[in-house]
Amino acid sequence: MLACRIHAKEDLRIEPVDMPSPGPGEVLLRLGAAGICGSDLHYYFEGRNGNFIVREPLIPGHEASGVVEAVGPGVTRVKKGDKVAVSPSHACGRCEGCRQGREQLCSNMKFLGSASLFPHVQGMFQEYFVMGERQCYPVTGDITLGELAFAEPLAVGLHAVNRGGDLLGKSVLITGAGTIGCVTVLAARLAGARKITVTDVLDRPLQQAMTVGADAVLRADREDDKLTTPQFDVAYEVSGNFNALKSCVAATKRGGVVVQVGTLPHEPLPFVVNELMAKEMDLRGAFRWGIEFDWAVDYLSTRRVDVRPLLSGQYPLQDAVAAFAAAADKNKSTKVQVVV
Ligand SMILES: [Zn+2]
Ligand SMILES: [Zn+2]
Repeated sequence: MLACRIHAKEDLRIEPVDMPSPGPGEVLLRLGAAGICGSDLHYYFEGRNGNFIVREPLIPGHEASGVVEAVGPGVTRVKKGDKVAVSPSHACGRCEGCRQGREQLCSNMKFLGSASLFPHVQGMFQEYFVMGERQCYPVTGDITLGELAFAEPLAVGLHAVNRGGDLLGKSVLITGAGTIGCVTVLAARLAGARKITVTDVLDRPLQQAMTVGADAVLRADREDDKLTTPQFDVAYEVSGNFNALKSCVAATKRGGVVVQVGTLPHEPLPFVVNELMAKEMDLRGAFRWGIEFDWAVDYLSTRRVDVRPLLSGQYPLQDAVAAFAAAADKNKSTKVQVVV
């Protein structure tokens, strides 16, 4: 079997690796589809994702679906042939964060496709892989493996919206119209937002945001002045751009909420804390997701949420280099996946 491994900056190899076999409670999966995420792009183009540096070959990929190939002893949740969404989150279930129902805050988290730990936790850009049955979510119906691989990013959007609080009747700003910005639009609509405005610095992502239900879009680089008056109840900063965060704070009403979803540069940032104080605003972080993954699988499999407009391309695993190049071009692509 083949695996896609990042050895260093712009050094990605498709290599034969040993076929794993499932132990007790484990499931052998054949990859269906795996989305390329911003963190995967950082690993490939920079050899690091912020402070997480590639120190041994890393198999990227944490947004995947698969088909059950075999099950180990004691597995009851899935059977051979099932289509599954794979949760990349392996939380310990015992620490304080887990016990409070916030597995994303687990202090012993093993998150797939990440160089945060050494040895690295290998991801799902490989033909076959083994997962604990708890991480496999079987679905029925005609949902495709490509759609199912959106469970992870959709969960990020649902969690962001959850962190922002009640949206019924609210006016919402989302800065950034990539995959996570667009799934946040979908989640905000589900939650009853009255008006959703999205900003980006490129036209194509803004068109995508309109396609999935944004009410208004604007170019942050050209219409900056429109974001100086407080007019939104809740803002989600998804782009990871510090100026966008400043716009969120400026454009949110007194008593409003700003949720930081994107990753800002890893350096100290000057910040207008006085504005937060004087407007009694809440600035909240949203990190990955917890129970929202389960919700995402249901919303996708019933198509209450339709992510099909966001899938811009699928490449065979062997063509991962081309897939990464396509994924990096935001003028052409939203979500790019590798498939087997
Ligand atoms: Zn991701
Ligand atoms: Zn834990």
